[in-house]
Amino acid sequence: MTQQITCINCPVGCRMTVTLDDATKAVLSVEGNTCPRGKNYAIQECTLPLRMITAVVPVANSATPLSVKTASPVPKKRIPDVMNALHGLIVHAPVSIGQVVLPDVCGTGVDIIATRPLT
Ligand code: SF4
Repeated sequence: MTQQITCINCPVGCRMTVTLDDATKAVLSVEGNTCPRGKNYAIQECTLPLRMITAVVPVANSATPLSVKTASPVPKKRIPDVMNALHGLIVHAPVSIGQVVLPDVCGTGVDIIATRPLT
């Protein structure tokens, strides 16, 4: 089977065709990429797609929420788990930008970090 993937690594946006083994879903070939980054992205997307997550979480004793994000991408299939963990999170000031507010979210090995300071 084949899958169409558009590379998002640069503005060129190469459209790639990925051929997968019907039984194992292993990547057999990638065509249409201009550089190796596209091939790597296509293989990642077809085998273990990853996504950054951004969200806002409540701050104790404040009406203004804090914006947070994953420090690195997490497996796409874990997004519901991560969002669920963020749903129960309440942050307490002060927080510096980049500070870990939830380590190793859902056992992914990825921290949730603040994207702005909170005084
Ligand atoms: S394959 Fe390379 S040139 Fe094409 S969009 Fe991806 S990064 Fe850009």
